[in-house]
Amino acid sequence: MKKSICIIGSGTAGLQLAYALKENFDVTVIERRSPDQIRQGRIMSTQVHFGPTRNREKRFGMPEWKEQKLIESIHVTIGDKKLFTGMLKEPALSIDQRLSYSHYIEDLTSKGVSFRFEKVIKENIEALIDNFDLVIDCTGKTGPLLPFPIEEDLSPFKTPLRKCIVGYFLGIKPNTPLGVNVTVLPELGEMFEIPAITERGPVTILFITAVPNNKLDVFKGIKKQEEFTLKMKSTVQKFFPEIYKRIKEDEFTLCDENSFLQIAFIPVIRRPYLFIKNKLVVGCGDSIFLNDPITGQGSNLASYCAEKLYETLIEYKDSEWDAQTGESYWNRTKQYVKEVTGWTNAMAMPLPEHVIHFLLQGAQDQVKADAVAEWFSNPAKAYQVFFPSKVKQ
Ligand SMILES: Cc1cc2nc3c(=O)[nH]c(=O)nc-3n(C[C@H](O)[C@H](O)[C@H](O)COP(=O)(O)OP(=O)(O)OC[C@H]3O[C@@H](n4cnc5c(N)ncnc54)[C@H](O)[C@@H]3O)c2cc1C
Repeated sequence: MKKSICIIGSGTAGLQLAYALKENFDVTVIERRSPDQIRQGRIMSTQVHFGPTRNREKRFGMPEWKEQKLIESIHVTIGDKKLFTGMLKEPALSIDQRLSYSHYIEDLTSKGVSFRFEKVIKENIEALIDNFDLVIDCTGKTGPLLPFPIEEDLSPFKTPLRKCIVGYFLGIKPNTPLGVNVTVLPELGEMFEIPAITERGPVTILFITAVPNNKLDVFKGIKKQEEFTLKMKSTVQKFFPEIYKRIKEDEFTLCDENSFLQIAFIPVIRRPYLFIKNKLVVGCGDSIFLNDPITGQGSNLASYCAEKLYETLIEYKDSEWDAQTGESYWNRTKQYVKEVTGWTNAMAMPLPEHVIHFLLQGAQDQVKADAVAEWFSNPAKAYQVFFPSKVKQ
């Protein structure tokens, strides 16, 4: 008989795990929102999936998004100076999570994975632990449901690093080559302009990461669609003139009434396993590895860890899932988590001189520019540049 696995939460982590595990195990997913509620709900992220994540999605047979314009590059501007356009080795793609999550849930259901649409509360979790061979907590940043121990070295913050302000817009002429457009305004925050796909077609995401209580942090209290659009337009005009030039005044609007978001949270990294009633429980994705979105790594990290958890569970498929299994999963993910988190936390601080020097070289040297673009696909490369003394030769 196949071992039974309960995945709580069907976001990036839970869904990739469901695809990966469904052949070898008896998988049940519990998700608090139905596909329709997700589809009709608020946007949740900006979700750029870089090459390695897209390759993992292929590896696990996740449906592909054909005929979409792919993200080929990263444009970098500091202050009002455009430095360079770095080309990605493999293209990236951003699909509105409302579209991808609802589609994957329906596809998995059609392939025999069992879904239950209900909210798991802490009081019910012990019953799940009793009833399944393994429970995986994939509840995202509202989680975890269980007290996975905090890794203090990787969790130095007591307040959010940025206010995240996101809108999915129509009426912006895309940049060329099509890419993520990063503008760093020292001390104030950043703007990420991201081409994305929604159920209604292509959009441009404007994603401001504002240093709290500084000049970019100007969306406080805005709850209405029209007010959000007007504030975004005036903010772009004032701080991001190159993007403003590409806005078509009469077409500039949010793509739907739920396509804007304001959120701030404290990054925290936890050890991804623990024992409840002597039984192993694991976590995957934001519920255990929660970083600030400033480097766009959350979904990519969730996908990486889902693959490592899959590989661990396959290796230990025929033995008891115990401390060795949990430790093996943590050992497979630790280094990558450290690199993503170290780079992400450093990006939210004033950039060190040697990093600014590296970025400036990108303006003269296309090889360096392409190397910066590669940071987003392969965070170990970014970590090497930010922390040369910590990297073993
Ligand atoms: C503004 C913003 C921009 C971002 N941009 C990027 C980016 O460009 N690139 C990138 O890689 N990452 C980005 N991220 C991060 C990325 O969205 C997350 O890291 C990723 O979605 C994490 O996936 P997950 O499966 O862990 O959690 P989620 O996607 O949050 O999924 C968790 C799921 O669990 C369900 N759930 C929660 N609690 C319960 C419960 N008690 N019972 C049942 N179900 C439950 C939820 O309904 C949800 O469906 C961004 C995040 C934000 C906030």
